[in-house]
Amino acid sequence: MGDYVHLNGNSLGPPHTGLLRELERVVDRQWAPRQVQAWFAEGWLDLPRTVGDAIGELLGAGPGQVVVAGETTSTTLFNAVVAACRLRGDRPLLLIEADAFPTDLYIAQSVARLLGRRVLVESSAGFDSALETHGSRIAAAIVAPVDFRTGELREIGPTTDRCHAAGVVSVWDLSHAAGVLRIDLDDNRVDLAVGCGYKYLGGGPGAPAYLYVAERLQATVDLPLSGWHGHAKPFDMSPDFVPAAGVDRARTGTPPLLSLVALHHALGPLTRAGIETLSRRNRSLSDFFLACVEEHSPHLIGRLASPGDVDRRGGHVAFDVPDAAKVEHELAERGVLIDSRPPDLIRIAFAPLYVSHVQVWHAAREFAHVLERSR
Ligand SMILES: *Cc1c(COP(=O)(O)O)cnc(C)c1O
Repeated sequence: MGDYVHLNGNSLGPPHTGLLRELERVVDRQWAPRQVQAWFAEGWLDLPRTVGDAIGELLGAGPGQVVVAGETTSTTLFNAVVAACRLRGDRPLLLIEADAFPTDLYIAQSVARLLGRRVLVESSAGFDSALETHGSRIAAAIVAPVDFRTGELREIGPTTDRCHAAGVVSVWDLSHAAGVLRIDLDDNRVDLAVGCGYKYLGGGPGAPAYLYVAERLQATVDLPLSGWHGHAKPFDMSPDFVPAAGVDRARTGTPPLLSLVALHHALGPLTRAGIETLSRRNRSLSDFFLACVEEHSPHLIGRLASPGDVDRRGGHVAFDVPDAAKVEHELAERGVLIDSRPPDLIRIAFAPLYVSHVQVWHAAREFAHVLERSR
């Protein structure tokens, strides 16, 4: 990792030690000698479920409800939203927040066009009242626990309860929360959820996404991407699609094996630490950063675009600063990696596994320095 401080783990985490050795092991000892037989002999075919269960541990999901089919978050969300609409065939609306990640908005619009429904785009503040007013006409609500810009939190339990009270299927996008926050999918009775493998989960550039299907929905959920790996008997090669039992029906085609191996490798240290520890450490780092910034440069706290209360924000903090891209660049030159969302937002993320308090102290000093100079 060199001398860099990685405060952008909400975008792409750095590789976990030993990744190349692990990939080399799979290539040299499994792929090379066994070739196609390795799918059966080396557990490759089970890996979408094995990795899914490991992610499930971090999400508060019991085994058998999460699968990593090998798709992007965007395709996985498409799969989930169409499935949610099919569970509510007679309802004309899809609800989503205006501040949702762009791909989520685009996918919602496309699903609506495809299925003859309409998207209701609401501000975060208007989201709950939209559920109340239009709930009986809404098929599904697409919602995220963490605002990807400001880090502001939306509590999963109460929102899911409001969805259920109106008969709405809840589809959560956990991309900015998994691996850093307690999510408690089972306890919160979430219906469907998706998320990225490459952010705090650290699976590497373009790591595949995951899909959670609550056990109670698995027998009825009808996913549109019905590829042969989701078939009850894929190797029978029969002409008719019969979905597999359980979450295996959410698999699509031959998964990107080496990417799954990399994601699995990255999950080891996260599941060993456990989400409770990861979350506690993230909160401590995040509060410590703000305290250090305040000490160096008290007025900078006025530029905080995130809630000041750690209970109300996710794993990162954001600041409103003029010329955000330039600030990102200058900090990178000083060994501190953060990310900017031009024109005026920077985000600073505290991945609990590889960011230390000493690094945070150093980063806060550089941050204050760069911003003081550009005043
Ligand atoms: C990062 C992110 C995505 C990314 O989607 P990909 O298809 O994996 O590129 C989607 N949704 C949210 C909320 C994200 O934060």
